[in-house]
Amino acid sequence: MRLILLGPPGAGKGTQAAGIVDRYNIPHISTGDIFRKNIKEGTELGRKAKSFMDQGLLVPDDLVVEIVEDRLKEDDCKNGFLLDGFPRTVYQAEALDKVLEKMNSVLDRVINVSVDKEILIDRAVGRRICKECGATYHIQFNPPAAADVCDKCGGPLYQRADDNEETVTKRIEVYLNETQPLIDYYKQKGTIVTIDGQQSIDKVFQEIIAALGA
Ligand SMILES: [Zn+2]
Repeated sequence: MRLILLGPPGAGKGTQAAGIVDRYNIPHISTGDIFRKNIKEGTELGRKAKSFMDQGLLVPDDLVVEIVEDRLKEDDCKNGFLLDGFPRTVYQAEALDKVLEKMNSVLDRVINVSVDKEILIDRAVGRRICKECGATYHIQFNPPAAADVCDKCGGPLYQRADDNEETVTKRIEVYLNETQPLIDYYKQKGTIVTIDGQQSIDKVFQEIIAALGA
């Protein structure tokens, strides 16, 4: 199963990704992770990527594609893969198609977990994190027994500075604007399936599985 997972910050993508890779026995490929791994191991691609990042520049599309291509050629991708955080642009999506074509392969599905902007904002703004153990809560959806106190360890809860409404709204709008052309691209190809991410975690997962036909 060769898959791409799309979804805005706060859509619960991480949880769904874990369930999908477990069910289909495929690796979860996040570009962040493979970048860090290449840099840590000092590969040529890693060194190239780092030189851009050190200058505060975005890693160019072609280099990102090269790093992903390299990863997709590894043995554990024989049964497929779940790409997360890539592609980000239509250029990268076209490049991925070419990479897969070279490998006599093709993308099976693009899973788009969709959540209304207002709900994403509520989810992020209400998030509270334990200073001691890192447990996360939500003042509305998953409140601690006592206000601002962690159920697990009794530590104080805090709100991340970038979880304020203005920053969250900007973060989500940037994501939605950047991703729309990609969604349109995969709609044209007929590979995308949009899942309502406003349902329970289990329901979202069941719908993903159903959409994948297994
Ligand atoms: Zn705690």
